[in-house]
Amino acid sequence: MGPLAWPPAPRPEAISAADWCDWTWQMRHRVRSAAELAAWRAPRADEHAAIDALAERFRFVITPYYASLMDPEDPACPIARQVVPQLGELEDPDGLPDPLDEVAHSPVKNLVRVYPDRVAFCVNNECALYCRYCLRKRMVGEPDWAMKKRELEQALGWIRATPAIRDVLLTGGDPLVFSDDKLAWLLGELRAIPHVEIVRLGTRLPVTLPFRVTDDLCRILAEHHPIWVNTHFNHPRELTAEAADACDRLLRAGCPVGNQSVLLRGINDDLPTMQALCEGLIRMRVRPYYCYQAQLLEGTAHFRVPIERGLELFESLRGRTSGFAIPVYVLDTPHGKVPLARSRLRGRDGDFVVVEAWNGALWRERNPLDAASDDAPAGRRTP
Ligand code: SF4
Repeated sequence: MGPLAWPPAPRPEAISAADWCDWTWQMRHRVRSAAELAAWRAPRADEHAAIDALAERFRFVITPYYASLMDPEDPACPIARQVVPQLGELEDPDGLPDPLDEVAHSPVKNLVRVYPDRVAFCVNNECALYCRYCLRKRMVGEPDWAMKKRELEQALGWIRATPAIRDVLLTGGDPLVFSDDKLAWLLGELRAIPHVEIVRLGTRLPVTLPFRVTDDLCRILAEHHPIWVNTHFNHPRELTAEAADACDRLLRAGCPVGNQSVLLRGINDDLPTMQALCEGLIRMRVRPYYCYQAQLLEGTAHFRVPIERGLELFESLRGRTSGFAIPVYVLDTPHGKVPLARSRLRGRDGDFVVVEAWNGALWRERNPLDAASDDAPAGRRTP
């Protein structure tokens, strides 16, 4: 699919403060082409080539707000690397479209059940921007994965008919891309199901579009408690005043806020960066919850870190910072999440790491020690 006919990206200096802080304006003016990206950070020649080569496979979309966090002088900018296509995405022979087998774990469309008492409900296929390492890149931005009203109702019907489900995670895509009315309807339907004890929202909008956390949204969330929010900061440069304000609003609305990051080569896989991220989150009263090992997902070999190096990184944090600032390092598998501690490793078999899941199942994760091309700049690596 080629770029759509959206309003052209404005020159940064021509944007009014009122427009900038309006989340719907941000959504309408998202960056969708190399020319629009150049208003914020001129793409390198290889990024130009990647944008063209990946237009059909996983196109790029960035909010002006997130684009403004990029450093135009830094060729390895950790913000740009998360959202601007890279040629490395074309070199991943082992990557899979659905590494967690989510489609096979779906009793109805976009409802993923791995555990007996929980479901992940992928309520939409849209996000404010598209992360290059997105686990659900098979569905993000793809019309076939959009949920029609009758499909949402079908999934709600399945939850209603399944009393074992006590915890529903609304995810996607991003559930906060929904309009207030649609979100209020969905939360109301879930709240009316007696066995659904808690609703969780998985959203990256506090990071990528913090202006979405409006007073009206907070009022809707406060009317449907208990609601827990997990967001997704990966780098300390994302911890802006605007993001802190969005998290503060969610907290004041009564939503505990946690963070789920992804360990990304050359972005946050060194001790100073991870420590600054975790300590910055704590200052914002956001609890670092999980840090995911990057999945064996198509087009992401250049992001993956050997698991042993991830273990060293999180072991190094112990004692250097507050205990509750250290997230649990986890590997997601089709058997559920495996906390990556040395006690859960059952060994290395060449290019594979063997881990034991919560239900005793053994899982072999392809994770070469020399994983991917090493394009991380010096000084951004774990020693
Ligand atoms: S915000 Fe989450 S769901 Fe959306 S593209 Fe990024 S990682 Fe994927």
